[in-house]
Amino acid sequence: MENQSPLNHDEKPIGQLDTEIKKCLQCGTEILVGRKDRVFCDSGCRAQYNYDHDSNNDPIVKFVSGKLTKNRKILLQLKLAEQATKVSRTQLTDLGFDFNYFTNIYKTEKGDLYYYCFDMGYLSINDRTYLLVKKDGYVPGG
Ligand SMILES: [Zn+2]
Repeated sequence: MENQSPLNHDEKPIGQLDTEIKKCLQCGTEILVGRKDRVFCDSGCRAQYNYDHDSNNDPIVKFVSGKLTKNRKILLQLKLAEQATKVSRTQLTDLGFDFNYFTNIYKTEKGDLYYYCFDMGYLSINDRTYLLVKKDGYVPGG
């Protein structure tokens, strides 16, 4: 059986409490007591503050990563669905593919340009047809 002892609550001896008054960084509520490094009134405020200050939550970052993620999903979906890896431009755009967004370009010795959305890439064969490729062992910048 597991040890069923009650949760070990933090019950350090009081007496060295920091009574300096601080204000919660998120909501401004005064924090009367607590550890010296305490800067939020509760965990909800800490979570909200961290969320608001995470650069990944900037609207532009969200927008672009949404585009890239969607593009990759479409490429992967078509690559898995099609035995042949050639798809038409319409197939891509019908699914919402946006050609303006990609993560990197790979140029072959022949001069072909592969546009990648993460590990999924495409090569324009002509104006209407694209070859889909999946990069195994993808290394960013590699
Ligand atoms: Zn607060």
